[in-house]
Amino acid sequence: MSDYEKMLKRAREQLPEKIFEKSRFEPPKPQIAIEGNRTFFKNWHQVVSAIHRDENHLLKFLTKELATSATIEGQRAVFAGKHSRSTMIDLINRYLKEFVICPECHKPDTHIVKEDRISFLVCEACGARTSIKSV
Ligand SMILES: [Zn+2]
Repeated sequence: MSDYEKMLKRAREQLPEKIFEKSRFEPPKPQIAIEGNRTFFKNWHQVVSAIHRDENHLLKFLTKELATSATIEGQRAVFAGKHSRSTMIDLINRYLKEFVICPECHKPDTHIVKEDRISFLVCEACGARTSIKSV
């Protein structure tokens, strides 16, 4: 874990629990800039830390869905090719639905556990365990 990740983790632990109690979970919307033949996801770290997922997991999901490659550069992610903001928003909403939001109680207080080859979404709010696809 890098110092930056440790700092993020600490910051996250200090957040009051109640901000996650909203039933409607709205992480920051992606800030997208297309330059040449590349797409810059400028607030990548902000979005990743808001949804509490491993950035490589989200990146893998997005690159697979967009059929492209991407790299993380500091605070941002850079995708090959041109991808619109609305495409990114749709994909992130799908990611939230499949890998973050509990299907039982619709809260985002979940984490992913892996057992053998199967991953489960485990809800900290209601205790539900749901099997999820691997990315
Ligand atoms: Zn739940």
